[in-house]
Amino acid sequence: MTHVMKRPRVGIPLPHPTPLSKPHWDGAREGRLRVQKCLDCGVHVFIPQPCCTGCMGPRLEWVDSSGRGTLYSYTVVHRPQQPSFEVPYAVAIVLLEEGWHMLSTLIDVEEDAIEIGMPLEVVFERMSDEITLPLFRPRA
Ligand code: ZN
Repeated sequence: MTHVMKRPRVGIPLPHPTPLSKPHWDGAREGRLRVQKCLDCGVHVFIPQPCCTGCMGPRLEWVDSSGRGTLYSYTVVHRPQQPSFEVPYAVAIVLLEEGWHMLSTLIDVEEDAIEIGMPLEVVFERMSDEITLPLFRPRA
């Protein structure tokens, strides 16, 4: 038996933006997937950091990602940690085409159809006035 992966729904615990991560969440609310990029070595840095994880330099700027990537790793959750999560859902690590990774949720796909390396694209799901979650779905 196969299941379509559930979307996060209103009522689940949500992230609390910090001064460091706020540009990412502000971008998501506007339908943009924002990530830090190092002005010195060009590495994309995520999750948000005060300095570059590639060269330790302090000069990071926020840029928009294409939102396109591939599935790097995943797990399907069948037992929710809290009753507010509908199961099953797929927690995914996505490799974005700029070469950085992001933890997210995979939607609009059946469990049997999930494959490592499959092409994905970001979609934005509004959860509250403050938080819009970047999720990923298969792309053609
Ligand atoms: Zn750097």
